[in-house]
Formats: sequence, C-alpha cells, structure tokens
Amino acid sequence: MEFDRRGVFIDGVWQGVSAHLPLEDPSTGQQIGEIARGGAAEIDAAVHAAEAALSGDWGRATAAERGRVLACMGRIVAERVEELAALEAQDVGKPLTQARADAVALARYLEFYGGAADKLHGATIPYLDGYTVYTLREPHGVTGHIIPWNYPMQIIGRSVGAALATGNACVLKPAEQACLTALAFAAIAAEAGLPAGALNVVPGLGAEAGAALAAHPGIRHVSFTGSVGVGRAVQCAAAEHIVPVTLELGGKSPQVVFADADLESALTFLVNAGIQNAGQTCSASSRILVERSRHDEVLARMAERYAALRVGRAVDDLEVGPLISAKQKAAVEGFLAQGGEVAAEGRIVDDAPTQGHYVAPRLLTGIGPDHPLARDEIFGPVQVVLPFDDEEEAVAIANGTDYGLVASIWSENGARQMRLAKRLRAGQVFINNYGAGGGVELPFGGTGLSGHGREKGFEALYGFTTLKTVAARHG
Ligand code: NAD
Repeated sequence: MEFDRRGVFIDGVWQGVSAHLPLEDPSTGQQIGEIARGGAAEIDAAVHAAEAALSGDWGRATAAERGRVLACMGRIVAERVEELAALEAQDVGKPLTQARADAVALARYLEFYGGAADKLHGATIPYLDGYTVYTLREPHGVTGHIIPWNYPMQIIGRSVGAALATGNACVLKPAEQACLTALAFAAIAAEAGLPAGALNVVPGLGAEAGAALAAHPGIRHVSFTGSVGVGRAVQCAAAEHIVPVTLELGGKSPQVVFADADLESALTFLVNAGIQNAGQTCSASSRILVERSRHDEVLARMAERYAALRVGRAVDDLEVGPLISAKQKAAVEGFLAQGGEVAAEGRIVDDAPTQGHYVAPRLLTGIGPDHPLARDEIFGPVQVVLPFDDEEEAVAIANGTDYGLVASIWSENGARQMRLAKRLRAGQVFINNYGAGGGVELPFGGTGLSGHGREKGFEALYGFTTLKTVAARHG
C-alpha cells in the first residue's frame, strides 16, 4: 500500500511539511520513523480543499454515487485487511488478531454506510389545507474528525464513513501516537475514486493541528473522540462559531452480575471487556459488580483467567499487548500505586522487549465503590471487583460515577433485565453479553462525562446532516 508516512494528504495529493514528529513502536519503545507535524496552515489548506470539493464533483455526486465510492473503499479495505492489521499492530501495539478485527470492522462500516447513503430521506408532513410541507436532510458541509490512537480504523469507519455517506467533505486529524492507518485510508479513498478534497488527512499534535481544526470557521460539524478534558476544549472552540459537536469520551463501564447469572457464559465477556486492547478502550468494562453470594466465586474464576494472560509484542499476538506510550504506562502505574488487593495478575513474557510499554493486567479487590480505582477511568488492563447486596445497591454503584457509556446485566431473570436496562445510566446496555460483537449497526455514544451525540448505525446519518423544512403555500 503506497502512502507517504511523513506527509499530509490534502486535495488528493501527498504534501510535505516542514516539521515532523517521531513515530514509535510501543512493543519495542523504539522510534521507527517520522510523521508529519501538521499545524494551522495545513488545516486551513485542508478545509479549503474540502470546501472546493463540495462546490465540485463531490458536492454534485448523487447519494447513490457516494454510496458506490464508499462500497468500493470497503472492498479495497477488505482486500488489504492483513496489511492494515500489520500497520495497526506496529503503530498501536495492538495484538494482530485485534488489529485484524479493526480492519474487518472498517470494511464493514464502509459497506454499511455505502449501502445507507441513498436510503436516508426526509418526510412529508400533513399541514394546513393549501400547503405542502416536507423535510430535506442536507450535509453540514466540511466536517472535522479528531480521533484518538486506540481504535483508529474503527473510529474512521464510524465517523468519516457516515460523514461521507451523507455528502459532507472531511478533514481528519488522527492522533500523533498512531496515524498510519489513517494515512493508508486516504490512499485507499483516492484509489476508490473519492474526488480530491472530499477527504483530507492532517497528522499533528492535538494542541496544534487538533486545536486549529476545532476552531476553524470553515468547519460546520466536529466529531471528537478522546478524553474528557480535550472534549471540553473542542466543544468550547466549536461554540465560538455555534458549530455542533459529537463527543465520544471515556467511561467506567460496569458489568452487573446477579446470583442467578450463567457464569460459564459470562466469564469470557467479564475478562475480555477489561483487557481488550490492554484496557485502552473507551467502552472497557473496568468495574465488575457481583451479588455478594457469588462474589468470591466470580473473583476466583476471573483470577484463574487473569493468571493465564500473557503480555507481549503485538506481532506475537498474545492476549495483551503493550500500552501506547511510556506516558500511558506511567499513568496506569500511578493508579495501581493507589491501593487495592491484587487478586491476580497476568504475566509479561520473558522475551517482551524491555523498552516496550508493558503493564501486567491486574484484577483488584478489597476497595469500595468510591475509591479512585473504582471511579476514575484508568485506561489500562485493570479491573475492580465490587460486591453488592441487592438490586438497589447494584444500580446505585453502577450509576455512581460521572460517566455513562456502557453497562451490562448478567441475570436469567427477564423482569430484572428490563428494569435494570431502564435504570442504568449508559448510552448502551447489554443483557447477558458485553458489546454484542461491536456491530456497526448499533448506535453508540454516551451520557454524562462519556459525551453526547451518537455514531454508528443509521443514527449517525442524522448527526452528520442538518434538517431543512420546506413549506410551500400553493392554495
Ligand atoms: P486525547 O483527548 O488526548 O486525544 C484525542 C485526540 O484529540 C488526538 O487526536 C489529539 O491529538 C487531539 N487533541 C489533543 N489536544 C487537543 C486540543 N487541545 N484540541 C483539539 N484536539 C486535541 O485522548 P487520548 O488520551 O489520546 O485517548 C484516550 C481517551 O479517548 C480516553 O479517555 C478514552 O476513553 C477516549 N475514547 C473514547 C472513545 C469513545 O468512543 N467514546 C473511543 C476511544 C477513546
């Protein structure tokens, strides 16, 4: 796959920049190259290229034509899953199997949004005699996409995919820690025939390229995925121009296990939801709430699983890879120094490079629900097991953080499942599973500090469009 690792992609062309940032492999801690340090000038050029695309071929493309280009992009991604997975594994430190799943998901997003492009429509509204009223769903214009390093391909699929399907032109600012698949995606888009300027990719630092994008007056919608603090700053910057923002932020998502749960089927979900991508997942389940009568059993069974977890290089494709950076590792270790009893931990394999950013997954017990380890997002392979006595207490603990991204209920009692699904404060609730396999059809987003707006599924198409009401008086 040909793309310029050190460049920015603007108006369908790879361009050089004057400054660069180091590119690191988290598995080894070694620098493996450089990426562009785009800034305000590149963002400005990208926004203008996107505006021009909207006045040109891309703006004139029919919904069916947009869908066909997206479908073609999806087919190319599907053919290059292995190459994309290898890039992501090296760049993010993600074990190959998990990186491959992200590439497959990207292809599926493009297939889904390609198919959806010509199925989004307005409505006719019965009104006064002598009037015909209808609504039109129109693109915002130029959309800005600021994404993190943990799931670049998935987030590109759900946000850029939906934005292009609805006829917007995009400026994508990938994270400085991991931007290679975003650059590869730009090359794939061009190969598939996406007109120049419809997608522009500008790597760079958050405080430079990211801030310039959020504040640019030409941007008509911002899709931000990342931390709460930066989300707040992005929303403030966008507010200057009264621009709508979708915020996909963090979480402290609980799985609530009742005494009647089928533990055999729950166990894999309980553990995987905490250690996938080394816990660096917005929807990671970092709190396991267990009804007291089965608390010790669940803890013991999870501890067995933890003891079998191996941590190593992404290419070795073990259960857990490194964290993204030395900074992230230090942050997780800072949390771990705050206490808790270690019920079990995974093992960093002997041949894991010493400079890699490895943290052994840790299962914690012996802390209360108000402890920082049980309240704050750690963004590492750490899960806390907390007992509860009854449904009321379970809901109080589950809803007791400022976040509201995901929750799951493990119980065979249908009435309880329905009650809790309503009472749990979360953008998505899963019953007897966690994540439902991540299907692209499922709307996704948060409440509280987890953010607002929805991406994924058909719902995203509403977010990336603005509704126009047309009322004709014809007598
Ligand atoms: P971050 O907020 O530091 O960075 C995210 C992106 O914002 C990066 O591209 C970064 O360069 C950019 N950025 C940084 N400062 C900026 C600024 N001042 N203005 C504009 N852009 C700026 O987040 P992170 O630490 O890289 O990612 C981890 C966080 O992302 C976690 O909190 C995690 O929960 C969250 N996340 C949420 C979801 C979701 O869908 N809800 C998905 C993945 C990650």
